[in-house]
Amino acid sequence: MPVEKPHWKELFSEVVTSGLCTGCAACVVACPHDVLEYDDPPGTYRPWHVDADGGRSDCTHGERGCTMCTRACPRFRTWEREIDVHRAGRERHDDEVYGVGDVLLARATDPEEAAAGQDGGFVSAALVYALENDLVDAALVSALSGDGQWRAEPAVVRTREEVLATAGSRYTYSANLLAYPAAAEGGAERIALVGMGCMASAPGVMQVRKSGKIARRLSLTIGLLCSKTFDDRIFDELFEARYGIARAEIVKMNIKGVFQIWTRDGAVHEVPLKEAHEFTREGCLHCPDFAAEHADLSAGGIGADNDWTLVIVRTELGRSLVAGLAAAGRIEVRPGDEDPGAVALLRKLATVSRRRWPESADPGPRRLPVRPG
Ligand SMILES: Cc1cc2nc3c(=O)[nH]c(=O)nc-3n(C[C@H](O)[C@H](O)[C@H](O)COP(=O)(O)OP(=O)(O)OC[C@H]3O[C@@H](n4cnc5c(N)ncnc54)[C@H](O)[C@@H]3O)c2cc1C
Ligand code: SF4
Ligand code: SF4
Repeated sequence: MPVEKPHWKELFSEVVTSGLCTGCAACVVACPHDVLEYDDPPGTYRPWHVDADGGRSDCTHGERGCTMCTRACPRFRTWEREIDVHRAGRERHDDEVYGVGDVLLARATDPEEAAAGQDGGFVSAALVYALENDLVDAALVSALSGDGQWRAEPAVVRTREEVLATAGSRYTYSANLLAYPAAAEGGAERIALVGMGCMASAPGVMQVRKSGKIARRLSLTIGLLCSKTFDDRIFDELFEARYGIARAEIVKMNIKGVFQIWTRDGAVHEVPLKEAHEFTREGCLHCPDFAAEHADLSAGGIGADNDWTLVIVRTELGRSLVAGLAAAGRIEVRPGDEDPGAVALLRKLATVSRRRWPESADPGPRRLPVRPG
């Protein structure tokens, strides 16, 4: 029997058009023939294949044997099990609903990093430390667009100043992997990726499926806990239309039970989350990964203290980075056991997300603990 070589044709039918595609852009940046493009405005967040080369649903390079896009896609077929085994050296147990790793609480000791960060500034502290200690050459993050609007877009950072300028959370999607070509063209060989769970699974799948240079270059992954991102239209249709909050006036946002929005005039607005749900991005509807399960380090804001980041340490690389940060006095660390409520919430939210994975797809990401009785 000929060996199957799944390519864009299979990716298009099994992921892009089946509801599994998150819009992470891994296939787009991995394609060596530049025949995949990415739709962002008006909020589609999907890869598409250029018409000149096989049409929307097929690819002439794929027909000739190129399989790079399916090897880069963190939603293609048995992705979760493959990356679990690659990263942790074993399959996960059913009760490891947030993946394999140890939970701790951390915050930056540098006042600027702590102030710029969304929660404890741990992610920014880790990026600054990795850049300053020659562990990575550049990082792919999310910046605010330069047009004065609150618009998230992928960016490359190489310095502490750039890390601080791009700290904090935006709750619309930013396919940070799209900044990879700029980082590689700038000469970066060791690149950190910051991204939501969907993106944070890309380096792992690229490494296990041997996607070449890009797999090697994406050498550190910091994932962000995430149950959803929102369509860009949330700014006009909800914040502006119903609450009179102009997009250009927003200076900070957070989600703590409600949408909290800070504006230039110093006001803090609250928008109930239930009104935001209708703006959930389509790519999130079937996502099973709350906890950025394949990152080296996953970071979230569900701890009891708002100025600490909940961190899941998942790999040896993640462990050594945390140890280095702590030894250099760049972060304070507390055991996760000190906040049992946060760990319980982590399990609960991870379980909710796993139930979203469709029954028609590979059953792995729906696996949950068997309840007694
Ligand atoms: C869309 C979104 C949803 C989230 N949902 C949850 C949640 O449900 N529960 C939870 O506990 N935590 C969630 N988080 C994580 C949380 O908001 C913080 O990012 C995390 O706690 C790290 O805080 P920090 O202070 O250490 O990070 P910081 O030091 O502030 O660093 C944050 C990093 O995230 C990058 N970033 C910001 N916005 C985006 C974006 N839209 N896409 C990709 N990268 C981005 C920044 O460029 C920066 O590098 C979410 C984050 C985002 C962006
Ligand atoms: S999930 Fe990511 S890699 Fe897979 S098809 Fe969608 S954009 Fe491409
Ligand atoms: S819920 Fe978060 S991790 Fe999942 S697809 Fe949406 S943005 Fe990505």
